[in-house]
Amino acid sequence: MVEVYYNNDVNEGALQGKTVAVIGFGSQGHAHALNLKESGVDVIVGLRRGKSWEKAEQEGFNVHEVKEATEKADILMLALPDETQPGIYENQIKPALTAGKSLVFAHGFNIHFSQIQPPSDVNVFMVAPKGPGHIVRRTYESGAGVPALYAIEQDPHGEAKDLALAYAKQIGAGRAGIIATTFREETETDLFGEQAVLCGGTTELVKAGFETLVEAGYQPEVAYFECLHEMKLIVDLMYEGGLEYMRYSISDTAQWGDFQSGKRIITEDTKQEMREILKDIQSGKFAKGWILENQANRPEFNAINQRELEHEITAVGQKLREMMPFVKGDQKGVVSRAEN
Ligand code: NDP
Ligand code: MG
Ligand code: MG
Repeated sequence: MVEVYYNNDVNEGALQGKTVAVIGFGSQGHAHALNLKESGVDVIVGLRRGKSWEKAEQEGFNVHEVKEATEKADILMLALPDETQPGIYENQIKPALTAGKSLVFAHGFNIHFSQIQPPSDVNVFMVAPKGPGHIVRRTYESGAGVPALYAIEQDPHGEAKDLALAYAKQIGAGRAGIIATTFREETETDLFGEQAVLCGGTTELVKAGFETLVEAGYQPEVAYFECLHEMKLIVDLMYEGGLEYMRYSISDTAQWGDFQSGKRIITEDTKQEMREILKDIQSGKFAKGWILENQANRPEFNAINQRELEHEITAVGQKLREMMPFVKGDQKGVVSRAEN
């Protein structure tokens, strides 16, 4: 059975007298830094000069270049994009990472696939909230928390677990549950979930359904509603009460259709392909390809992204969402990317 810790199981004293440097002030970084500070932890922020730097200063933090933050801190949370971490680690963190300091990750990729190899006298652990940064922040402010995974990779002085749990507690995760895992399990299941189900699986399912209806002569706007827009209603029900609550809530006709047709879409072949995808993740083949793609400045990533933006569903969706301002979140980054 899975090992779970709550606030009462955790002694936050492990962080007493220690300085935490949150490196990066994006989605995760801003939430960690603010939650820790409001929990009474001594926090500084490490960044390069730019947008995030200004934002962190406005929030009242002492902001430093990454190397200087590493020198000043006992515990470093790497809240940087995963692809940039190895370079920043090599040039700015490693030179100042002395024995006994702690290197903390919110995702296991760089440790599990050896893109970062810290010295053996440094603590290495993970605190990975199971939600985006703005939810981590918002739930903390409301007195609740987002559950987090924690894992220990290096523990030279026998203190890594206490530090990991205390860190997780102080960002609010102990209010919801802190779950033990390993770097390997977190990394491989995270990659598999996003590739097979959450992102890769869902986008292709939506597009295939949309294309099938449009090719059969139905209006693209109607196809968009049926295959994309309504996805949220179904996913919200699954989120609230699992598959059984979703099925209870939909009509019996929809449920009968689910039973009759779902297995014709996700076949034994699909599942076999999922096993192949998992093998490529476990063997490191996927990671190697992504690392090389980044080293080459992402030629394939950019080409596919452009092709996807040219799909009919993009334009139809943009037009329909204009009619529904209530569904729009903060999409500044998305718009500029589409204009590129
Ligand atoms: P973001 O992309 O939101 O934030 C990146 C931050 O890093 C920005 O503040 C950016 O500052 C800064 N940064 C980028 N490059 C540099 C650099 N060269 N030197 C200094 N600072 C730099 O990252 P996320 O919060 O999404 O991801 C952080 C980690 O959290 C990753 O390991 C990710 O896997 C993990 N994670 C993310 C989740 C999420 O919901 N997003 C969920 C769980 C884990 P600037 O403004 O200067 O660009
Ligand atoms: Mg992921
Ligand atoms: Mg319907």
